Amino acid sequence: MIFVFSLSSSADLNNVRFSAYRTAMKLRRLQKALCLDLLSLSAACDALDQHNLKQNDQPMDILQIINCLTTIYDRLEQEHNNLVNVPLCVDMCLNWLLNVYDTGRTGRIRVLSFKTGIISLCKAHLEDKYRYLFKQVASSTGFCDQRRLGLLLHDSIQIPRQLGEVASFGGSNIEPSVRSCFQFANNKPEIEAALFLDWMRLEPQSMVWLPVLHRVAAAETAKHQAKCNICKECPIIGFRYRSLKHFNYDICQSCFFSGRVAKGHKMHYPMVEYCTPTTSGEDVRDFAKVLKNKFRTKRYFAKHPRMGYLPVQTVLEGDNMET
Ligand SMILES: [Zn+2]
Repeated sequence: MIFVFSLSSSADLNNVRFSAYRTAMKLRRLQKALCLDLLSLSAACDALDQHNLKQNDQPMDILQIINCLTTIYDRLEQEHNNLVNVPLCVDMCLNWLLNVYDTGRTGRIRVLSFKTGIISLCKAHLEDKYRYLFKQVASSTGFCDQRRLGLLLHDSIQIPRQLGEVASFGGSNIEPSVRSCFQFANNKPEIEAALFLDWMRLEPQSMVWLPVLHRVAAAETAKHQAKCNICKECPIIGFRYRSLKHFNYDICQSCFFSGRVAKGHKMHYPMVEYCTPTTSGEDVRDFAKVLKNKFRTKRYFAKHPRMGYLPVQTVLEGDNMET
């Protein structure tokens, strides 16, 4: 999994990048504290089925939430005996869901919200999560109009909002994201799952925290046969950043996030991020890119910034799907 971007373009864009990481790291901690990193998609679906949670627009009261969470954590406790404290997990997860989806403390959240929260933080593959979530808002024939997509994006964006990070992802107004998706679909009135997945692969600004969460998780145990040019860490553990301007120039995660640079390496030079060790194919491809970039000027890099996510045009805060 790779991610190319440059640090040059503008402070705002950098902030989005960095806040995506900051948000993802907070979410990773939360995911582990709630033991949702142990929960498979199929186990989550079993629990939802068992509690007959099919009507996504229906409200769930506290008791229903507790019952479903208890089923989820009882099963996790059986599988991971010493890791899961059922009453504690149920309590923490309930509180988290209410903080995210019931800020007015009405004692109810929608079934869709419950599913969005649990599935976003479970252990599944990223695209399986996208497919699952899309299916929840799609019609029985598998299509989704703007309103339905809006419901899904609304419930998704509440997760970074609760962490105080929503501004970096385009604000709580999801209309620009909905518009971005349907423009991507050539303004068709309805989209199918494959198109939604293609759009999500561009990592739209409002959703970029979720793929970054997956990369943060993958990078935790990654060990790269490379040496950090700044702090000399070798092998590099975590994210590895390789220069696409200089050969054999790598930076470790902590140097990269603290913005340290070595002599002769400019912030605007493009870098590629690896959360898992590189394959020989990736090495060859990067080598070719470095060759190309070697003679490119600062102006070229300034004119061709890479953002690594799909920006959506943001509008003023205030309007909200809930109203
Ligand atoms: Zn370093």
